[in-house]
Amino acid sequence: MEEEKIPAGRRKPWLVPVIVAAVLLAAAAFVWWQNEFTLDLTMEGPQEITLEVGSAFDDPGARACFSGNLLMWKERPVPVEVEGQADLNRLGSYTVNYRARKELNYGFGKLFFEKTEARTVHVVDTTPPVITLHTNPEAFTLPGQAYVEEGFTVTDNYDSEVADRLARWVEADGVHYKVSDASGNVTEVVRPIVYNDPIAPELTLLGKETTIVVQGNEYQEPGFTAVDNGDGDITEAVTVSGQVDYLTLGEYALTYTVTDSFGNSASATRTVIVREYPELPDFMPMAEPYTIVQPEGKVIYLTFDDGPSPFTDQLLDVLAKYDAKATFFVVDRGYEDTLRRIADEGHTLAMHCGTHTYREIYVSEEAYFNDLKRIQDVILEETGQLATIVRFPGGTGNTVSCGINSGIMTRLSKMLHAMNYRYFDWNVSSGDAGETNDPTEIYHNVIGGITGKQVAIVLQHDINPNSVRAVEDILKWGLKNGYTFLGLDTSSPACEVKPRN
Ligand code: ZN
Repeated sequence: MEEEKIPAGRRKPWLVPVIVAAVLLAAAAFVWWQNEFTLDLTMEGPQEITLEVGSAFDDPGARACFSGNLLMWKERPVPVEVEGQADLNRLGSYTVNYRARKELNYGFGKLFFEKTEARTVHVVDTTPPVITLHTNPEAFTLPGQAYVEEGFTVTDNYDSEVADRLARWVEADGVHYKVSDASGNVTEVVRPIVYNDPIAPELTLLGKETTIVVQGNEYQEPGFTAVDNGDGDITEAVTVSGQVDYLTLGEYALTYTVTDSFGNSASATRTVIVREYPELPDFMPMAEPYTIVQPEGKVIYLTFDDGPSPFTDQLLDVLAKYDAKATFFVVDRGYEDTLRRIADEGHTLAMHCGTHTYREIYVSEEAYFNDLKRIQDVILEETGQLATIVRFPGGTGNTVSCGINSGIMTRLSKMLHAMNYRYFDWNVSSGDAGETNDPTEIYHNVIGGITGKQVAIVLQHDINPNSVRAVEDILKWGLKNGYTFLGLDTSSPACEVKPRN
């Protein structure tokens, strides 16, 4: 075989590797030239974050990586620097910057890559203030009274001067408290007012707690008042239970009750006693019980009212001359010596009245007995005798008292009986109190009246001298006709006219 001969000058054995290297180098340069490096920076989370003041900021951060499209197709992480921060304790808008850098160093030069991202953090206050009401469990407001503040506190998560902006006012539903903080967050609370009234009304009875009603006289309610701390005058709301049967003797209870609008009640009781006559006067002594004894034979009781007088001694002389006894219904008008002489000489010293003024003594039971006590005291002081024999001024049957006090004679006569006192009217009138002033006529009136009576009680007045002058003839006539002249005593036969008032 023919061997192709290669010219020696054309033989270049190193050329192939060089060409290969050149091609490779060119290929590498091409790749480098075509490659693009990228630095990517990505924020985690949103670009704007709104946070409540005071809260914690957990920065979601950002991530960065470096890569190329032909070389380094695998991403390589790059650290991210964070610049700026949000002050979570102060309101405001803050910028947080994230920066990533990458530097490529080739000895002959450097390549820098840098990316930044910014995030805005808003620190805001959306929390309304807090109003805390203090309450006293025992506190209450009386109806009609102003509410007394139990206290409150106002706090805000951010605004330290929030309390200065509190407004407080009262409406129908309660006390309003309203406040807004510097960021305009509003809180309003309402405190209902607890109206309460633990205090019962005051119920006051007018008149006496124990009231005496004389049988037959209609009970007159003296009245009452009721006042409540909250409701004011609630007299109209008082109810009365119980009834008084003023025709029937007995004790009756009237119960008065009133309740305020909070259910507090007050009550009072009045006892009404229906009795035949008022309470006996406790300032007068009771007399001993008596027994009436009919006197033997024919008896004349001469009685002289309204003395003593300047003529009484003369009368006593005449009585002494005939050893006759009489009865003197005296008035408190002095003549103490005469009073003593009446008693000393064995006559009956009895009570007529202190003053003879009807309008004063018959105005009430109390007035009557006060007046009677006056003459009783005079007799007791002058003679040591307790007088319990009485003649009513005007007699029991007087009608002059009608216009002064209805029914008083009926009641007084019952009261004297209850006290064991004796009162005497008369069955023979001398007519010496106005009808006549002539001793002869008086004498005839008297003996005319006595005639036919076993027991005569004769009314005369020793303030009338003409009546006194008639006495001697009356004594003579009586003795001649078999009468005995006696003084009244507690056992004397009754002579009581039925009251006409
Ligand atoms: Zn009289």
